[in-house]
Amino acid sequence: MPAQTADQTRPAEKRLTVLSGPSGVGKSTVVAHLRQVNPDVWLSVSVTTRAPRPGERDGVQYHFVTDEEFDRLVAEDQLLEWAQFAGNRYGTPRGPVEERLSEGIPVLLEIELQGARQVRESMDDALHVFLAPPSWEELVRRLTGRGTESDDVIRRRLEVAKVELAAEKEFDTTLVNTSVQEVCDELLALMTAPKV
Ligand code: ADP
Ligand code: 5GP
Repeated sequence: MPAQTADQTRPAEKRLTVLSGPSGVGKSTVVAHLRQVNPDVWLSVSVTTRAPRPGERDGVQYHFVTDEEFDRLVAEDQLLEWAQFAGNRYGTPRGPVEERLSEGIPVLLEIELQGARQVRESMDDALHVFLAPPSWEELVRRLTGRGTESDDVIRRRLEVAKVELAAEKEFDTTLVNTSVQEVCDELLALMTAPKV
């Protein structure tokens, strides 16, 4: 990773990047690859009320919590942002993010549109990156091909995807996920470059 340079417009301690985009576009794939090639980037582990998919482990992809536990985190203001998405709730634990940012560590949030909007309201220096599919057909192919959701859940996620795609212009920049490697390189460059 290139050395971080001091930048008056965007101090290192505020280096927060939000990656958003429709379900199935490849966010998790890109983030997993990015963590492999650059362990210096810290990825926030969200809490969710969704059930784990096969292979997902508590504390790794998500902290899997009950509805009651999620209610408690919201009531205690322990979430930086949270949202309801396709029948489940997801949120970013506030403490670990603030801790890393205060240490000057680049932080990445992989979250959906409503959460990204909340972060834009509360943290005006964050960089918002939209991950777009090469085409609508390819998005449908990826979401269906992943094989992790029922037809009904896929339909709900594709409905939400139309809303998310329409919000692309709210983001600072768009990366089209044609090649995971290329998107990863571009994302890393954005995360570590001074904001202009
Ligand atoms: P998201 O986290 O955005 O919901 P995933 O990372 O789970 O999406 O990716 C959805 C599916 O698309 C997965 O099967 C993944 O392997 C595949 N995928 C991701 N990126 C690409 C790509 N650049 N080209 C082809 N398939 C991809
Ligand atoms: P999935 O169920 O496919 O893992 O995630 C569904 C959606 O929730 C994705 O768009 C993902 O980016 C988003 N998501 C994951 N964690 C969070 C979070 O902490 N907050 C918000 N707002 N969205 C999240």
